[in-house]
Amino acid sequence: MAKIHVKRRDLVSINTGEDRGKKGKILEVRPKAGQVIVDGINIQKKHTRPTQTNPQGGIIEKAGPIDASNVTLVCPSCKEPTRIKRKRLAKGGLERQCKKCGKAID
Ligand SMILES: [Zn+2]
Repeated sequence: MAKIHVKRRDLVSINTGEDRGKKGKILEVRPKAGQVIVDGINIQKKHTRPTQTNPQGGIIEKAGPIDASNVTLVCPSCKEPTRIKRKRLAKGGLERQCKKCGKAID
């Protein structure tokens, strides 16, 4: 299974489907499923019964999971959809860098 290249709060651009070309923030990463949930993307309408907290019932709109391979990270520095490279830091750990502008992403 491929490792997910994005993480929570990353801004991503959608590559496929109805939401192609849209951008949104990652709300949740599901590594086991290889999926991510992106704010405002793949909205699913769910009808709910009336409850105490929501006496009217009605329709809840919620972002649905999409395959992580269908999103591209958007660099916060150059604002371009980009690939990332990982650089090993002298102090230990890895830093993600934009392949276009070379700035650190995090
Ligand atoms: Zn960049």
